[in-house]
Amino acid sequence: MEKAENKIQDNNDSNVIMENQHCPICGNETLTMIEKEFDIPHFGKTSIFSLFCHSCNYHRADVESIDKNEPMEYSLEVSSPEDLNIRVIKSSTADVVIGRIGEIKSGIASNGYITNIEGILNKLEHVLEMMLDDNEADTKTVKLHLKKLRRVKAGFDPVTIKIKDLAGNSAILSEKAVAKSLKKKK
Ligand SMILES: [Zn+2]
Repeated sequence: MEKAENKIQDNNDSNVIMENQHCPICGNETLTMIEKEFDIPHFGKTSIFSLFCHSCNYHRADVESIDKNEPMEYSLEVSSPEDLNIRVIKSSTADVVIGRIGEIKSGIASNGYITNIEGILNKLEHVLEMMLDDNEADTKTVKLHLKKLRRVKAGFDPVTIKIKDLAGNSAILSEKAVAKSLKKKK
């Protein structure tokens, strides 16, 4: 059960929905935009938006902090099965490093979402599985990384997860996480 104080508040009044917008991919007027504002404990007001095109299935999602914008790096040692439930805000501007197993890079192809550590590990698993289908990839190394990742997910191995976001839109919401400001000292 989730503690009441850690519950994410959905500010219903601030939901914005726009339908029949111009899709940047297929050009049809079938794009739906949804923007929602949430109040996240220990992080503040956060805007979550998603785009979905009913013609070509184009989909984009992202999260953006309304209150904070300080460049930050969060580091978490995942060492117990309970740690898999730790909440993570990962925006499109975040670079995520999962030990020596792999990375989830920021950029235009990157989506933003609110998830937990398990969700981050599942994303990486998906990325690695797609690499196995790619003929260019070093299959042996990818298979090894997948094996390591599955051991972490099963709680057999610890791993350190780092999330670096220069736009300050991401966080690992746990007292166990080490938060470091990347703001340059004047
Ligand atoms: Zn489209």
